[in-house]
Order: sequence, then C-alpha cells, then structure tokens
Amino acid sequence: MSAPVKKNDRLSVYIEDLTHDGNGVAKVDGYPLFIQGALPNETAEIHVMKTLKNYGFAKVVDIIKPSSDRVVAPCDYFKQCGGCQLQHLSYEGQLKWKENMVRNVMQRIGKINAPVLPVKGMEEPWHYRNKAQIPFSVNEEGQAIAGFYKTKTHSIVDMDRCLIQTGEADAILAGLKKELTAIGIRPYNEHTHEGMLRHVVIRKARATGEVMVVLVTKKKKFPQKEAAVAVIQRLVPNVTSIMQNVNNEKTNVIFGDDTINLWGKDIIIDTIGDVRFEISARSFYQVNPEQTEVLYKQALEYADLQGDERVIDAYCGIGTISLFLAQRAKAVMGVEIVPQAIEDAKRNAVLNSFSNTYFEAGPAEEVIPRWYKEGKEADVLVVDPPRKGCDEALLKTILEQQPKRVVYVSCNPATLARDLRILEDGGYQTQEIQPVDMFPHSTHCEAVAWLTLVE
Ligand code: SAH
Repeated sequence: MSAPVKKNDRLSVYIEDLTHDGNGVAKVDGYPLFIQGALPNETAEIHVMKTLKNYGFAKVVDIIKPSSDRVVAPCDYFKQCGGCQLQHLSYEGQLKWKENMVRNVMQRIGKINAPVLPVKGMEEPWHYRNKAQIPFSVNEEGQAIAGFYKTKTHSIVDMDRCLIQTGEADAILAGLKKELTAIGIRPYNEHTHEGMLRHVVIRKARATGEVMVVLVTKKKKFPQKEAAVAVIQRLVPNVTSIMQNVNNEKTNVIFGDDTINLWGKDIIIDTIGDVRFEISARSFYQVNPEQTEVLYKQALEYADLQGDERVIDAYCGIGTISLFLAQRAKAVMGVEIVPQAIEDAKRNAVLNSFSNTYFEAGPAEEVIPRWYKEGKEADVLVVDPPRKGCDEALLKTILEQQPKRVVYVSCNPATLARDLRILEDGGYQTQEIQPVDMFPHSTHCEAVAWLTLVE
C-alpha cells in the first residue's frame, strides 16, 4: 500500500488518539499520521512532514475545533523542551487519558479484565520533582547557558525556571549562570571537552526541607570552590549540603566516581510516611515523594498485612517499599541488582530501627529461587521492576512457589499487562489495578495491581 498523503500536503483531519509520547493520531484511509501538538477529539489543519510505508508525521497548522480539555501550556519553554509532553492538556484531561490508556493496554496486551480505577493524581501538580539535574554549557557567543534538553537531542534549551522543579532549582537555573564569569568558572563544552562545570544537581527533601547542591566538575582541582560555595549559599539560603563530584570522561553519564564534601553535611534526610531515608549525592530516590507515598500506601493496602506475614520485595532499590511493608509484616526480604542501593537499604533499615528486614544484592530471578530452596518462603510477594517488566524466570518462580498474594508495582502498563497475563494463565487472578500519577505533564503512568491465587 502506498501512503494516501505525501510530504507538504495540507489537509484537515480529526484526531482520534494520543501516542505514548504525546503526539496526536489521525487516520487517513486507515493510514496513521502522528501529529505533534494535537489532542484527541480535535479537528486540525495539518502539514505533512514525512511519510513512511505504514505511517507518517505531520505538524499542526491550525486547530479548527479544539478539544474541550485543551489549555494554554503555562510554561514558556514547553514547545522546545523535552521534559513535559502534555502541558497543553488540562490536568483533569491528562488523568482521564492515563486511565483510559491503562485500561486499553490491559485489554489489548493482556486481555486483563480486572477493574482499572481512576488515576490518583496530585492536588497541586507543579513543582513536584525533588531532584533537578541541570546541564551547563556555552552558547555560540560563548555565554553560559543552563536548562533542559530539547526532545530527542542533546542541545540545551536555556531557561530560567521550570514549573515542575523546586524553587531552589530555579534559583540555580536563573542565578548561577550569571555569576560564573565573575568567579572565574567556565561551563563545560561537550564538543571540545573544555571548561569546568558540567552539571548542577539539586535535591530537596520534601519533609525536612533540607537541600543538597552537587557541582559536577571536569577536574578535581577546583580553585574557585570557596567562591562557588558563597554564591550557592546566596542563591539558595536554605542549602544544607554542598558537594562536588568529579567527572572527567567524555560521556553523557552525569556523575563520576569521586564525590567530595565542599560544605555542610554529606546527606539530606527525607521521610515518606513514617519512614526516614538518607539521600546522598548519587543515591537513587523516587523523584516525586508526595505521590510515592500514595503509591506505596496503595501497595501496602493491597498487601493486606496482618503482622505475621513474611514478605519478599523484588527489585527493592534502596528499600523504600520494603521499609514501608516492614512496619506491618513479620519479616521483609528485599533483593536488588545494584549493590550500592542494597547498602543504602541496609543503612535506612538501621536508621529506622527495623530488625525484621534482610537485604541481598543480586538478580531477583536468581536470588529468590535460591531463597525458596533454603526454606525462606513468602506469604506475600511484591515486585517493582524496571520498565521492561519482570524477568520470565522470576514469574516462573512465582507460579511454582505460589505465594498467596502478589502486589505488582509498575512503571510501564504494557509490561504490566504482559506479566499479569502470564500470572493469570498460571493460576492467579488480578483483583484490581490502581494507576497513580507520579509524573504530571508527562505521558508516564505508574500502576499497582493486586493478585490472589485461585484456590
Ligand atoms: N522499589 C524501588 C525501586 C524500583 S526501580 C524503590 O521504590 O526505590 C527498579 C529497580 O530494579 C532498580 O533499582 C533496578 O536497579 C532494579 N533491577 C533491575 N533489574 C533487576 C534484576 N534483574 N534483579 C533485581 N533488581 C533489578
């Protein structure tokens, strides 16, 4: 079949859907066109940019009939920056879209008929990210720039504020680049590998208000460090920790191996629910703590712990869910592939005086079968895998060992649906799926599902 439209055609179309990366979808004689900036239920005049055999791309020339959910994106950088995809859709519209998206994916990929509940969203869906990683560079005139990347590129959109980051991150975004010349710091240029300042990472503990600023520099030798500390203290008066991290590699990876204290404490402390967490410059921590609490409370509710259960938390990271569950369980065993994260989990268990937790580093699909062989069984199994979902070998272990209850926390509805199907075919029943919006204005959606063994 040849495409029914060609490059540079202009036509009017009805937008039926929205893709996972936030583009509108229209069909011309069954041929899908992906249209940046268009929303479902709109009629738009479009300009065809490119056609391939089975689909094409277009951009909006004019919205003829707007969606009732369309709003003016509040951020000035929305069109260039790749950070948010859905600011032109009202927050209510976003939540409705995410709910439908999860429901459709469950049906289409997994034939899962369990109820999908309305998405739990945020009351105030702005300034929710507790971690900003800001690249610094120079523009063609040699001036310092700082911001976030354009979609699918490595070029920085220079900006002074970001509506999903904290005020402290804005203070660095707007303030630091103006001060760099005065204190003699050159931003890093990734093309020439010259200059000093590569990234500034700002982390804020929502519950305690503690703030960490990390300067990622090319070299360890940092003669301007005292001046830099003074500027940061002026820009972010509530800062409690200023760190330097050294990265001399030609790489897109932000951090190098060496982290040095410049001023204040090495860590900040945050709490989720009643559990305290130590956060260091490089440790993994959920970026939306308010919604993390919502998500984990849901996981805890679905785990339905009475106090005498043994629980396995697979893909446990720094033990966030494990420690949440440990408040109500007899024992929790967590497994995670990154050894550093397991160190953090153990430290956080001590920090919270838990004596009923056990953490081990390794692949969940190897460690958990071994635990079962050693007689370490679980009544409830919780999984929170990365986007690619659970390893097949882990699902096989679940089906063999048959824990009474499985709670599945997912950041990717497609792999959730696939894995739920495998579990259902092996004797489990999905009871309910609760999506939670962890990343307002993005197309991501987390969800928690709860399964029981069919007797
Ligand atoms: N539950 C954690 C984070 C889960 S993110 C929290 O709330 O903090 C998924 C985690 O799975 C990551 O930490 C990743 O390092 C880990 N992971 C990836 N593959 C794994 C595997 N095969 N076995 C165990 N852990 C794995």
